[in-house]
Amino acid sequence: MSLNLKVTTIMNRDIAAVDADSTVEEAARVMASRNIGAIAVKRGGEIVGIMTERDVLKRVVAAGRDPRTTRVEEVMSSPPISVDSNATVGEAVDLMNRRGIRRVFVREGGRIVGIFTQRDVLALMRVCLYCLGEIIRTPGAPSSGLIGCRCGALYHADCARTVVYCIDCGSKLVELVEYTSPEDTMAAD
Ligand SMILES: [Zn+2]
Ligand SMILES: [Zn+2]
Repeated sequence: MSLNLKVTTIMNRDIAAVDADSTVEEAARVMASRNIGAIAVKRGGEIVGIMTERDVLKRVVAAGRDPRTTRVEEVMSSPPISVDSNATVGEAVDLMNRRGIRRVFVREGGRIVGIFTQRDVLALMRVCLYCLGEIIRTPGAPSSGLIGCRCGALYHADCARTVVYCIDCGSKLVELVEYTSPEDTMAAD
């Protein structure tokens, strides 16, 4: 995978958010229903912070506060940490490592336009299960020549013809359809 990709190519533009006045319980319900580990916090339509599972654990549960009465703005991490929309994936990963965080917002002009997570990066990093060679999946570019198993394993087309059965689950690989676009592979999340 390329650390030189622009962060905007793999960021998520759909940012889940709650109002700063919401209770921690309300925000936690949204996080649980959307299966996300953090939620943006808005005040007056503007993102002013983020509340993560870690914030809830440390600043609410471990601190003995009541999630039904504690407001999100009391425990959120603020101000929101962001990278510029011109930043590369490598720069965003470096910032996350330096700050010890798993997600950063992406800012364009003065506005936050997306969120970029460690999980997005990991989703790009795959290897062929047969030859263990790196599989490059660049969003927006064709990724033909790959065969995916129903268990989620990926193979180079040539490797799949050699191994025939999936090394992980034993399914026959020759019957499976080749990916025609990266969207097909990204959807299996
Ligand atoms: Zn291979
Ligand atoms: Zn399999």
